[in-house]
Amino acid sequence: MSSELNNSALALLSPSVADFVNKQHKLFINGEWVNAAAGGLLEVINPATGEVFTHVPAGESLDIDRAVQAARQAFEQGEWADMSPSARGKLLWRLGDLVEEHADELAQIEALDNGKPVNDARWGDVAFSYELLRYMAGWSTKINGQTIPLASGAPFHAYTLRTPVGVCGQIVPWNFSLMMAVWKVAPALAAGCTIVLKPAEQTPLTALKLAELVEKAGFPAGVFNVVTGNGETAGAALAEHPDVDKVAFTGSTEVGKKILAAAGTNLKKVSLELGGKSPMIVYADADIDKAVAAIASGIFYNMGQTCTAGTRLYLHNDVADRVLEGLVSHARALKMGPGLETETQMGPLVSAEQKQRVCEYIASGVEDGATLLTGGGSWGTSGYFVEPTILDHTRNDMRVVQEEIFGPVLCVIRFSDEEEESVVIQANNSIYGLAASVFTRDISRAHRVAKRLKAGTIGINTHHVIDPALPFGGFKQSGWGREMGWEAIELYTELRSVGVAL
Ligand code: ADP
Repeated sequence: MSSELNNSALALLSPSVADFVNKQHKLFINGEWVNAAAGGLLEVINPATGEVFTHVPAGESLDIDRAVQAARQAFEQGEWADMSPSARGKLLWRLGDLVEEHADELAQIEALDNGKPVNDARWGDVAFSYELLRYMAGWSTKINGQTIPLASGAPFHAYTLRTPVGVCGQIVPWNFSLMMAVWKVAPALAAGCTIVLKPAEQTPLTALKLAELVEKAGFPAGVFNVVTGNGETAGAALAEHPDVDKVAFTGSTEVGKKILAAAGTNLKKVSLELGGKSPMIVYADADIDKAVAAIASGIFYNMGQTCTAGTRLYLHNDVADRVLEGLVSHARALKMGPGLETETQMGPLVSAEQKQRVCEYIASGVEDGATLLTGGGSWGTSGYFVEPTILDHTRNDMRVVQEEIFGPVLCVIRFSDEEEESVVIQANNSIYGLAASVFTRDISRAHRVAKRLKAGTIGINTHHVIDPALPFGGFKQSGWGREMGWEAIELYTELRSVGVAL
């Protein structure tokens, strides 16, 4: 491992992060740090350079089995099973505090592992994670059933009990590795479930750091387990495990369908947060400066590797040139570089595969007749950088407009006065329905359009609308269920109806 210390990126890390990154990583099962049963290792690559900088265990089905057993035991009896809701909430709050105390370290780890700008990681991913942990800590003591008057008038006292769903398999992607894990972990713990978390193979490190903090917070052994490994092995084993009660997945729609099929083995509960192709509609009366800033962040934040990314921009003809001028100059001014450098605004994409995929999409858009306004391909001499790219004059039938690219590529479609109503139909013409936004000063139109757009999250004069208290999830093939808010607690609980003969 010592040769890995020569890696250029390590010079930018704080000593504690360098120590963490270089240690011999293990799986976290039943409160212990253990090697993968088969002993395999996965390489972890710095996307800013393409270099391998550390390894993590390649967990497989035997490891998933051990972790599920530990989670089952912790769920059925012992300290966690008997813990008061208030004590659970206190532990969660403590975990939130620890995440905040270690925020700079977690941000550096995420920036190194995923490539994203370290300031975005610190004030986006990590800050959201501790806020969500605290928000969910509050729900621990408020998970009520209801008293229900019976329709038949039968002489029963009837009520519902809301209880934890059980052992949860949670499979998360690489784009917001820590944050996606916390979106699932926080409500599951608030509800009293136990967890086996499988982070993405590209970005396994923040999940392992989170496990250290869970241990430090004092959660009982077996409540939270982490198995790093590949999707087809560890992930698939978790999704199909007969003793897992619920699987929660964030990732591609393609893999989401596999998770669903695997979950059919024991009909475990399933929640899915999948792909998107979110439209942004700009009417002629919009505040253009504000719209440009929101659209730029809508598409380029996290290098476009955001499931809610605003990838389709519907622009009214009267303002199209002005908006595009603003967007092009914004895109060209973005400072590209390794995520660990504090002035970086656009880091690399996560992997060579992702870079190739995005570049192929850009080429296909141009081949299909789109006009390249800025960007167009890879940047720099090493790493997986792709320039922020704007394709004008695209059409709904182009692949770049229909398929999820997951990169910094904006597709522009212009519309006329006559299309002011039908543009909403075009915007809804997608297999996805995760997010959408509308930019206008006409308050009636804003609400009218918000009601017609088929998406789980709608922005009016903004694009990314995300908060611990707001339910988040998709229509159509963007997924099943809502994370965050009270709705996330519903995902991790089961209802019992109880009748008492009077
Ligand atoms: P992306 O396409 O964004 O890389 P994926 O949907 O492939 O995202 O991966 C998201 C998560 O799903 C990762 O943790 C990955 O390891 C896991 N995964 C991939 N394939 C499978 C599978 N067949 N079964 C279970 N999990 C999988």
